[in-house]
Amino acid sequence: MALTSAVAAPLLPAPALVAICLMGEGGKILPTQFMEKVIKTDAEWRTQLGDEEVYRVTRGRDTERPFCGAFHDHKVPGIYFCVCCDLPLFRADAKFHSGTGWPSFFQPIAKENITVQSDRSHGMSRDEILCTRCDAHLGHVFPDGPPPTGLRYCVNSVALKFVPSPTQ
Ligand SMILES: [Zn+2]
Repeated sequence: MALTSAVAAPLLPAPALVAICLMGEGGKILPTQFMEKVIKTDAEWRTQLGDEEVYRVTRGRDTERPFCGAFHDHKVPGIYFCVCCDLPLFRADAKFHSGTGWPSFFQPIAKENITVQSDRSHGMSRDEILCTRCDAHLGHVFPDGPPPTGLRYCVNSVALKFVPSPTQ
């Protein structure tokens, strides 16, 4: 009978797992699954993202100027993904015209994919939204959206990567 070792294995930092939803065939959202968080150094993000504004907004929690982003007036059917880690975030059919100058959605593609946390910067109390998998700053969520949720996910265009639906 083998004796089990009484010496405890050295404690390794557990990989941070997050529950998220990926997209399958035909844009179908798959059941929630656990995946490792995407963690990179600032230098790695800078190299990957290339563009200074994309880096500043997503990794530095900045905000792009209103009415300047690529998607504030964008009405093509498709899916918006996280620019940093390609997690699907919003469907074009949840987008609405908010008049704010930033792309606005009334719901995410899966609630798991967006993390909401309190943001008290700039003398305001707001709810910041982040990509659950890589912690990219996306924007903020406000309780003044249209039905059915009454929420307005106000997102920076530069935090998003758009893939149009295949035309039938
Ligand atoms: Zn991400």
